[in-house]
This record gives sequence, structure tokens and C-alpha cells, in this order.
Amino acid sequence: MAKSNQSVQAIRGMHDILPEQSSRWQYAEKAIKGVLANYGYLEIRLPIVEKTELFKRSIGEVTDIVEKEMYTFDDRNDDSLTLRPEGTAGCLRACLEHGLLHNQIHRLWYYGPMFRHERPQKGRYRQFYQFGVETYGLAGPDIDAELIFLTDRMWKRLGIRHKVRLELNTLGTTEERLVYREKLVEYFKQHIELLDEDSRRRLETNPLRILDSKNRDLKQLIQNAPELMECMGTDSLSHFEMLTQTLDDLGIEYKLNSRLVRGLDYYGKTVFEWITDDLGSQGTICAGGRYDGLVEQLGGKANHAIGFAMGMERLLLLIEQLENVAIEQAVDVYMIRVGMEAEKEGMRLAEKIRDEICGIKLLVNCGNGSFKSQFKKADKSGAEYALILGDDEVSRGEVSLKPLRSGKEQKNMTQNEAIQLLTESQNRK
Ligand code: ATP
Ligand code: MG
Repeated sequence: MAKSNQSVQAIRGMHDILPEQSSRWQYAEKAIKGVLANYGYLEIRLPIVEKTELFKRSIGEVTDIVEKEMYTFDDRNDDSLTLRPEGTAGCLRACLEHGLLHNQIHRLWYYGPMFRHERPQKGRYRQFYQFGVETYGLAGPDIDAELIFLTDRMWKRLGIRHKVRLELNTLGTTEERLVYREKLVEYFKQHIELLDEDSRRRLETNPLRILDSKNRDLKQLIQNAPELMECMGTDSLSHFEMLTQTLDDLGIEYKLNSRLVRGLDYYGKTVFEWITDDLGSQGTICAGGRYDGLVEQLGGKANHAIGFAMGMERLLLLIEQLENVAIEQAVDVYMIRVGMEAEKEGMRLAEKIRDEICGIKLLVNCGNGSFKSQFKKADKSGAEYALILGDDEVSRGEVSLKPLRSGKEQKNMTQNEAIQLLTESQNRK
């Protein structure tokens, strides 16, 4: 093979999150984890790779994900494995495997990368991060409402509530959907000449998904299609009514969208999406619903389950559009050391400060440099203070502290005084 001098690049659609972006990510992650804790949800950590069969059995063979988006490969034992395209299946697999569902209620969350071989564009990538939330053992509709309150609170805490809106639908039970399916097939068959290739295929395999089509030419046809609600019994209808009543009571606005069917096969009853108009066509930032049937489908005893997943990249794109986001600075204090003694003493003092002030972000300048060049770096770091040690200061047992953001004077003081002052400043945060 010819040697190439070209550097190796990342895979298309799989992105590095660079240090300048990671503080914004951490800010969002922290806010989201905080809200999950507010509601008593616990974290579960899951493998990134699972047996391919798991996704085929759960997501459904005739979905976009399984048909054309999965990263599937044979490992060295010729087992077919897949990089997880979503987290619901793995989470349920883990709970069944560890017997977590016997007469128990769980409220869980996970976070991490998912993989789908899609056409990369803004808000759509081949590796992307999701926060997923799953609850088991609750028939609802109070838990359905809780998930919506929880997401609503997340948007508020992230400052993007004004950018998103809620759409809601119910898909009824499997039996009700079967009745509906027949009606729908009959309707679309009458208009078969208007259907595109994808939809004709779906007519055979998964006709409800035609309602989800992004093809604008089908809009009118889809709009006039029969309504699923007309095939629903009292149980499904009253579940949905109680949910909407609870949302009304707490003042959460929503739009009923009877064409919201979700891309995955396993949903039933409540489905919802949080949508933004600020990201072009990749507008769904969070999507979820009830999937009671999946537990049995994966070999468990019949149970209740409802959850959602939200795409972090799309959330981050929204957060970037905000003006005043209180992102934590990466550095609180930048230590400048000039001279042999100062270098030694500085290292010692830095460790002492980290011992005494929990959570302080103290960056020590390493490598030589004049006061002037180190000050420049201190300024650039965004630190609030420069802590300065020259050999003169060290010989007097002092340090010098210069506020970098307030325009206040630089001051000499003892090391203990400096620690006191930095502690107070840290406590104010
Ligand atoms: P879409 O309609 O955008 O393809 P989906 O129905 O495939 O979404 P879900 O499987 O429900 O999406 O995933 C939940 C959320 O994860 C989405 O609402 C979105 O925010 C995010 N997401 C899904 N696929 C991608 C992707 N390829 N890149 C970035 N984020 C994604
Ligand atoms: Mg998709």
C-alpha cells in the first residue's frame, strides 16, 4: 500500500467536541442532571454495543433505523453486533437481565453517544448524544404527565423554554391500531397513484409510518387520512383525556397532532415531541412515548413503560443562540511564577490552595516566561484573579493578587490572606 502523508480525519458525521465547546456541554449536562435528580430519577450506564438481534426485535425490522441506519458488524467470533442507535432497547434489556422489573417501579436515565448512518446535516449526525429517560411499572397517565413536566422544567432551566413547543398524540392499543391499519391501507390504496416509492413500500410493511412522511407532496393526502382516535376504545381515550387534563391544570400548553406517530414501532398510547422552529428541518429536540408492549416483546412479563430521548446537539444549537448563558469559567485563578524560588514556592502554594478551597479552578503557568507574557496568558484564560509570585515576594513570604475583571488594584498580601480572599470569592459563586 502506498504511504500517504495525509493526516487521518474523523469519520463523516462524527464530531469532536473541542475544549472551547465542552464547557457549554457541561453546563447543559449539569442542568439536565439537576432536573432529573429533582424528580428522583437514577442513572443507569449501559454498553454502547449490543447484539444486533436486540435492536431488530425491539425497534422493528421495517423501521428506518433497522433498515438503513444501523452500524452493524461481525466481531471476531462472527457474532453480529451493532453500535446502539438508541438507548431504550439496551436499558430494558439490562433491567430484564438483572431482574429489576419484578413488582418494582423504576425511574431511570442514561446519557451517551448513539450511532445512526444518516445523511449528515445541521442537527443530524452519525454519532450524536442523547439523554434518555425510561420509567417502568407505571400505567399512567400521571407518569406520562410527570415526564412532560420534567422536560418542561429542563427547557426552563436551560433558558430555551420560549424556543420549544409541545405536540401530543395517542396511538391507542395494538388492537386499536390494527383496526386503524386496515382503514388506513384501504384509504391509501384508493390513492395509490399519489404515493411515493417509500410510502408504497410502507403500505405493505408499516402503513402508519406513511403519516410520518416528510414528503411535502403527500401532505394533503395525509391530512385527509382517517383518524386513529375514531378507532379507539374508552380506556385509551380516557387515559389521554386524563393526561391532557393534568397538563391543562398545570398550565402546560400543547398542540394535538394526530399525525404524530414516531419513527419507532414500539410506541402505544401517549406519544409526544418537543419541537423548535429555530433549527430548520431538524426541529425535534425531544421525543418520547409509552411502549408497554416492548417489555413482553423482549421476553419479560407484561409491564408498563414510558420514556423519552433528547438530542444534545440540537439542544446545544439552541443554547448557542441565546445571548446570556451563564457558562462557568474554566479557570478562576491563574498563577504567575517568575524566578527559581517563585517557581518552587508556587507549586507548593498551588497544592495548598487546592487542599483548602474545594472546587477552585487554579491554573499554574508552566514553562518560562516574563511577567508580561504570563499576564497575557492569564488574561486570555478568563480567570478572575492572577496570583503572582516573583522571587521578591517569596523572600518576604508574600504573594500578589490582581483582580483581572474588576479593574481593582493589584495588592501584596501574605499567602494566608490570599487564601482567605480567594475562599470568600469562591463562596460567592
Ligand atoms: P428524526 O425525526 O429527527 O430523525 P427520530 O425520530 O429518528 O428523529 P428518536 O429516535 O426519537 O429520533 O431520537 C430522539 C431525539 O434524538 C431526536 O428528537 C433528536 O433530537 C435526536 N436525534 C435523533 N437522531 C439524530 C441524529 N442523527 N443526529 C442528532 N440528533 C438526533
Ligand atoms: Mg431519524
